[in-house]
Amino acid sequence: MKCEVCFRKCDLSEGQEGFCKGRINRDGKIVAKNYGRISSAALDPMEKKPLVRFHPGSMILSVGSYGCSLRCPFCQNHEISQVDLEGQCEEVTPQQLVDKAVELVLYGNIGIAFTYNEPMVGYEFIRDTAKLAKEKGLKTVVVTSGNATISTLDEILPYIDAFNIDLKGFTPEAYRYVGGDLQTVKDFIAHAAKKAHVELTTLVVPGKNDSPEDMEKMAKWIASVSPDIVLHLSRYFPRYKETIPPTPLSTLESLQAIAKKYLHTVVLGNV
Ligand code: SF4
Repeated sequence: MKCEVCFRKCDLSEGQEGFCKGRINRDGKIVAKNYGRISSAALDPMEKKPLVRFHPGSMILSVGSYGCSLRCPFCQNHEISQVDLEGQCEEVTPQQLVDKAVELVLYGNIGIAFTYNEPMVGYEFIRDTAKLAKEKGLKTVVVTSGNATISTLDEILPYIDAFNIDLKGFTPEAYRYVGGDLQTVKDFIAHAAKKAHVELTTLVVPGKNDSPEDMEKMAKWIASVSPDIVLHLSRYFPRYKETIPPTPLSTLESLQAIAKKYLHTVVLGNV
């Protein structure tokens, strides 16, 4: 059976797990193996998602599970994104998570963010939880690489207020480096921006996605979707398997100047 959730379209035989480790062919159906499995949870500032034009100054209950459809060599969350954590997670139902989010309103919480690993590989849990969250007046956020198909995005889009989507470069090579697909991400961004608040994040890695020409093309394309989309240019540091030295600040600043020719807000992160 083919999984249609992301660009990989894994062909899975009975009992076989997908590339992302979050989905499986079980009894002839492809299901989210990580449904309701929470590996990490925190009450985070909205700016940490990062979202700077969506309820600035507020807090949001942020949860992650396990699994990812990409293989970024610099992944900061590889302990949860690149492994199967079944049996090591806390199990919650959508209702229990919404109840927790409501409880935390007292501490400044305004909703639920699905983040840390790649949440779209378990989109069913996002959909079921976000539906209930909206009934309680909570805000909903998804932080994703945007490598899911439009039909998967449509399953959650009616219930999501804001997205931060990674745009990991603007060339096929930049996406080969992380094991993703640029066209899928562009389609995802353009479709999400029709209905929800969208901000984008590019982690700038020296020699991989720091060319001024590519930044020019990227910013132009983002502006064609909307010049109001906020672009976060984030500084890379060596992590996980990647040993390239950190991004010089001067590189970030010159890319920011290029992007600002087309976009109203370009923010530097991790500096
Ligand atoms: S979501 Fe997972 S199982 Fe489905 S196609 Fe993508 S990597 Fe494969």
